[in-house]
Amino acid sequence: MSLMRSLLLAAARNQWLREHATRYSFVRGTVSRFMPGETLDAALAAAESLRSKKIGTVFTHLGENVKDHAEVRQVTEHYLEVLKRIRASGLQAEISVKLTQLGLDLSPDLCFEHLKAIIERAQKDSIVWVDMEASNYVDATLDLYRRALTAHPNVGICLQAYLHRTKDDLAKLLPLRPSIRLVKGAYDEPPEIAFARKQDVDESYFELGKQMLRAKKENRCVRAAFGTHDVALMRRLADFAAAEGFGKKDFEVQMLYGIQRAEQERLASEGCTSIVLVAYGSYWYPWFVRRLAERPANLWFMVRNVFAA
Ligand SMILES: Cc1cc2nc3c(=O)[nH]c(=O)nc-3n(C[C@H](O)[C@H](O)[C@H](O)COP(=O)(O)OP(=O)(O)OC[C@H]3O[C@@H](n4cnc5c(N)ncnc54)[C@H](O)[C@@H]3O)c2cc1C
Repeated sequence: MSLMRSLLLAAARNQWLREHATRYSFVRGTVSRFMPGETLDAALAAAESLRSKKIGTVFTHLGENVKDHAEVRQVTEHYLEVLKRIRASGLQAEISVKLTQLGLDLSPDLCFEHLKAIIERAQKDSIVWVDMEASNYVDATLDLYRRALTAHPNVGICLQAYLHRTKDDLAKLLPLRPSIRLVKGAYDEPPEIAFARKQDVDESYFELGKQMLRAKKENRCVRAAFGTHDVALMRRLADFAAAEGFGKKDFEVQMLYGIQRAEQERLASEGCTSIVLVAYGSYWYPWFVRRLAERPANLWFMVRNVFAA
C-alpha cells in the first residue's frame, strides 16, 4: 500500500482533523465533487437527473460508529423517511446502510432490530444493501446479514475483494441465495488480513466476480453487483458474463456519484444495469478522506480549490 494512501486512511480516523478540516471552504468545495449536497432533497434531485440517463440510485446517509441510542433511532427514522420518499417519487432507488451507524458498537441485537425495521419497510422487489466496514466488523456484519437474509430475501451485503477471507465468506453465503455487491475495500488493513498489492486485489476481485456470476446463473445469487470504477476489470467481467450467456441487463455495475460519469452513462446506454451510489449528510469527513485515499490525485482538486477560494 502506498505511503500516501496509508497517511490518508490514518487521517480519515483522526478526530481533530475531522473537527477542523471540515470548516475550510476548499475542503467543502472538493467534497462537492463526490456528493450533490448534505440534504436528502439534494440527493433526490441528483437521483432524478440520473434517472433521465437511465441510471438507478442507491442512497446512503453518511455516518458511522454511532454510540448513542437516540441517534441510532434518528438514523433509522431517517432511512424510513427515505424509503417513503423513494416510493412517492417512483424512483428506481435503493438504500445502503452501515451497521455501525445503526448501533452495532452498542449491541448487535439492537442493531438487528433497527436493520429489520428498515428492511421490512423497503419495497419487496428492492434491496437494502449493507455496507462492509473495517475488518474488525466483518464477523458481526456477516452474522447480522445471515440473520436478516433468513427472514427477508430483500437484503444485500457488500464483500471486499482485498480480504483473504472473502473467498470463504462468499462460499458460505451462496447457499442462502444472497445479493452481493463486490468492492475492492476502502480501509487500512494489514497484509495478514488483506492483499497489499493492487494486482492481487484485482485478481481476487476477478475470481470472486466470476464465482458470483456463475452463482447468479445457477440461481444461487439474487443480485451480483460490481461496485467498482475500474474499467479494465469491468470489461473482463462483462466479457465473462457475455460468454456465460448473460443479457446486458443482468450485468450490474454500481459506482460512486461523481466518479467515472462517462462510464456510468455508457453502461446505461448499452442496456447494462448502471447504478450510482449517492452519499449525502453532514458527517462526510471520514468517507470523503477514504475517497481521497483511493486516488491521491484527488488531492490536486483540493489544492486547486485552495487557490480558487
Ligand atoms: C457502489 C460502491 C459501494 C462501495 N461500498 C463499500 C463498502 O461498503 N465498503 C468498502 O470497504 N468499500 C466500499 N466501496 C469503495 C471500494 O472499496 C473502493 O475503495 C473504491 O471503489 C475504489 O476502488 P475501485 O474498485 O474503483 O478501483 P481502483 O483501482 O481504486 O480505481 C480504478 C479507477 O477508478 C477511478 N477511481 C477510483 N476511485 C476514485 C476516486 N475516489 N476518485 C476519483 N477516481 C477514482 C480512477 O480512475 C482509478 O484509476 C464502495 C464503492 C462503490 C463504487
